[in-house]
Amino acid sequence: MFEALKKKINKTITKITEKISNKEKTEKETIKEKTIEEPIKESETVQEKDEKSSIFSFIQEKTISEKDIEDVLWELEMSLLESDVAIDVAEKITKELKDQLVGKKVKRSTDITEYTQEALKNSIKNILTVNGKDINKIFQEKGDEPLIIMFVGINGTGKTTTIAKMAKHFLDKGLTPVIAASDTFRAGAIEQLNHHAEKLGVKIIKHEKGADPAAVAFDAVEHAKAKRKDVVLIDTAGRMQTNVNLMDEMAKIKRVVKPDLIIFVGDSLTGNDAVEQAIKFNESVGIDAIILTKADADAKGGAALSIGYVINKPIIFLGTGQDYDDLIEFKPEWMIRQLFT
Ligand code: GDP
Ligand code: GDP
Repeated sequence: MFEALKKKINKTITKITEKISNKEKTEKETIKEKTIEEPIKESETVQEKDEKSSIFSFIQEKTISEKDIEDVLWELEMSLLESDVAIDVAEKITKELKDQLVGKKVKRSTDITEYTQEALKNSIKNILTVNGKDINKIFQEKGDEPLIIMFVGINGTGKTTTIAKMAKHFLDKGLTPVIAASDTFRAGAIEQLNHHAEKLGVKIIKHEKGADPAAVAFDAVEHAKAKRKDVVLIDTAGRMQTNVNLMDEMAKIKRVVKPDLIIFVGDSLTGNDAVEQAIKFNESVGIDAIILTKADADAKGGAALSIGYVINKPIIFLGTGQDYDDLIEFKPEWMIRQLFT
């Protein structure tokens, strides 16, 4: 996961370390050094020793200037953009790295590596740390009422699979979910969700193709209340072509069932498109949290790094495969570990 992004980060750290380590000393520093070094030159052993220690130490302190690192920062920004990192995020990372490094006095190359790594880590951690609704708290406050979760997103991103994974997630916690097949636009969507529900042994509420999606969701909530089920998972349509109608449809389901949580499901492989879709759904329906699918196949990591920051909503899970158990909780610390170890 995120191998390409990790590589780019490492490359930046190495380049900055090399640049500063090999940087010409200022005139003043050179003169000072010459007068100290000259007499020692006679003795081979001392010189050898000096060379050895110079791998780790420049003897003289150096100050990192903007000029030293400006081309590496530029390269970093470009390579982040290539990785589908959103422009605001790429700019923020490079600017914060510059602010942290410029003016810093360093004595050893290991210092430079350490400072650069810490600066990048802090910046990325801040970007990934987005506060959202406290799901456990909402769940507790619901008491006997079911928790209602509505899933939105474009077709093909893995929304159906993700709903099945979430059903499994709740089953594993000893809770009883019910699924609402509110993507009534495609018969295939109802069939596919039905297949997952049967495999998991979960009740599904479905009407025929073309039925009112809000009515299906409403029935699922009524069923959950009557049968004392814990969670309602609502699938919704994700057709791309008729965006305005789609958003109206989402708004109507929202009005009718008043979900506790609206989760946007996005495909991490689509990078900036996933971010754009999230912006759209957030503007017209309002989303509370994000699940990114197919992270297992995503080397770039751009969507994972940017999407939460851009819409200011947290990523709560990542899809990491096609099985029901391939769902992991997303935590900023986890992503930092992926990128820096
Ligand atoms: P929907 O149209 O959004 O409901 O998408 P589906 O749930 O049908 O998923 C589309 C395809 O993506 C299917 O082949 C899924 O098995 C696959 N898929 C979904 N989530 C993941 C994931 O996290 N990792 C991988 N590798 N594939 C996934
Ligand atoms: P409108 O269709 O644009 O007028 O939307 P409304 O805000 O009036 O929502 C009403 C819709 O929600 C209905 O068309 C039903 O699909 C659904 N709905 C509301 N109340 C009920 C109900 O008691 N039972 C069922 N099955 N569906 C309901």
